[in-house]
Order: sequence, then structure tokens, then C-alpha cells
Amino acid sequence: MKIIMLGAPGAGKGTQAKMIADKYSVPHISTGDIFRANIKNGTELGKEAKTYMDKGLLVPDELTVKILLDRVAQEDCKNGYVLDGFPRTIPQAEVLDKALTELGDKIDFAIDVDVPDANIIKRMSGRRACLACGATYHIEHVPPKAEGICDRCGEALVLRDDDKEETVKNRLNVYHEQTQPLIEYYTAKNILKTVDGTVDMQVVFDSIVAILG
Ligand code: ADP
Ligand code: AMP
Repeated sequence: MKIIMLGAPGAGKGTQAKMIADKYSVPHISTGDIFRANIKNGTELGKEAKTYMDKGLLVPDELTVKILLDRVAQEDCKNGYVLDGFPRTIPQAEVLDKALTELGDKIDFAIDVDVPDANIIKRMSGRRACLACGATYHIEHVPPKAEGICDRCGEALVLRDDDKEETVKNRLNVYHEQTQPLIEYYTAKNILKTVDGTVDMQVVFDSIVAILG
């Protein structure tokens, strides 16, 4: 099963992608997590990606596409995967489709987690992330057991640099300009499914499971 998560930054793509990955035993692949791991490890890729991420801009397609194609070619992806934060532009989607078509394969579903902009800013200011293992919390909706500490790996939680209000506004603009056109792209391919992302995360997940079966 190959699934793409679509939706604005903060819509809950990562939250749902992790739940899907657990239930269906497929890897959760987040290009944002891959970039953040590179930033944490001080790699050249991380340094370059950070200059875009901190401004709320997209990392250029040339960098992003290669990372994603290398990742999905790995052994653990052979029975499927859930992509979170990729594709974010039409050219990225086209490259992915081409690579899959060459293998006689395709994406099964693109799930749009729909949350209006007004809800997003509040969600992002409450988001806390673990840069070590990729877990995500929310100070009100999904608090960790011990304040500021990751339940899964014990690392300190942080407010992501790009979750500050000004940057979130930029990211929303970038989303509407460059990523939202993917909704039409996948509608035309008859694989787009939209779920209401404003409700409780378990209810969102139930509606995704109803789609995936
Ligand atoms: P994305 O991956 O789309 O950027 P996240 O999954 O990181 O979004 O979610 C953004 C924030 O909103 C996180 O702090 C998360 O815990 C919280 N969140 C996710 N889904 C819901 C929901 N259905 N209701 C309330 N808060 C949510
Ligand atoms: P995310 O963790 O998905 O919210 O991504 C955080 C940031 O990483 C984005 O704001 C972009 O700067 C960058 N990024 C992640 N995925 C992509 C992608 N597919 N294309 C371009 N930039 C990306």
C-alpha cells in the first residue's frame, strides 16, 4: 500500500502517517524529518536545507527528489509506505509518478487532511517535536507524560524553529501557492480522498482506516 499525505503544515499529516504506519506495518517517510536529522547531524545537506526551512520556504526540488527516491528504493519500502510532506510541488509528484510507472507501480491513495488556516497557527504554536526520534506532541491536545521530555526516547522536546508564528504564515502561503495544486492533480488521477482534520485525531484516523480498508 503506497499512500501520500496531503494537507497544510500542521494539518496532522505526521500524526496520522505514524498511526497508518503502525497499523499497516509500512514505513513512515517524512522528508521534513530527514532534513531535520541532517541539520542535527551537521551534514552539508542539512546546512543547505536549513537556509530554506528557517524562512518557511521549500527546499529546492533537485535536493528533495533525490533524497526521496533513494529512500523509497530501500528494502523496507517494497510492500509500501506512507509519504508525509512529499510531494509538495507538481514537479515532485511528476518525478515520483515517473519513477513508479517505470517499476509498473503506482500510488494507491492521496489523503488530504483538511484543516482551515485559522486553526493552523494555534496548533503550530503548541506543537513540540523530538528531533531525535521524530515524535510529535501538542502542549494541550497531545501532552507528553513528563513536560518537555519525549515519551518514546527521553530526549528534550523543542518548538521547531519554523513553527514560530511569522514563519508559519509564510509556510501557509507557500502551501497555498505550491502544494495545494496537488489536490487537483490527484483528483484527476481518481485517488484523492479528503478527511476532516479538525476533529479528534482518533476520529480522523477512523475515517482514514475506512478509506484504506
Ligand atoms: P503536520 O505533519 O501536518 O505538519 P502534525 O501531525 O505535526 O502536522 O500536527 C501538528 C500539531 O497538531 C501537533 O502538535 C499535533 O500533536 C497536533 N494535532 C495533530 N492532529 C490533531 C487533531 N486532530 N486535533 C488536534 N491537534 C492535532
Ligand atoms: P515538514 O516537517 O513536513 O513540516 O517540513 C518542514 C520543512 O522542510 C518545510 O517547510 C520545507 O522547508 C522542508 N521540506 C520538507 N519536505 C519538503 C518537500 N517535499 N519539498 C520541499 N521542501 C520540503
